[in-house]
Amino acid sequence: MQGLPYHIYPFLFPLHKVLYLALYIFVNIWTISIHDGDYRVPGALTGAINGSAHHTDHHLFFDYNYGQYFTLWDRLGGSYRHPSALMGKGPHDLIRKLQAEGKLGDDRVKAKGQVNGHAQRGATCKEE
Ligand SMILES: [Zn+2]
Repeated sequence: MQGLPYHIYPFLFPLHKVLYLALYIFVNIWTISIHDGDYRVPGALTGAINGSAHHTDHHLFFDYNYGQYFTLWDRLGGSYRHPSALMGKGPHDLIRKLQAEGKLGDDRVKAKGQVNGHAQRGATCKEE
């Protein structure tokens, strides 16, 4: 239902089919990226981009961060919530922390190419 405006717009306003397809692909990639738990946003844009951390607050507290891409209208409408409680605590942040501490890595994969008889592409836990 939320994607309906993207499909109605080309019927109301002229839009080249290639541009429509490109925008549709972009919005799908963007939608996945704000739900992936990777809270990184370039530092100078942290307050302007409605990234994954902001959108996570939208799902947790419902009345905040409605914006699809930017925080401007949430700021003007009073529904902006800075996700300070979540910054640096996302699942990707935890993975980076564990890798930095040497508790998680793919060193066995690089050495053997296989773990437990299966080819591995991702990181593996050393406590296994
Ligand atoms: Zn969502």
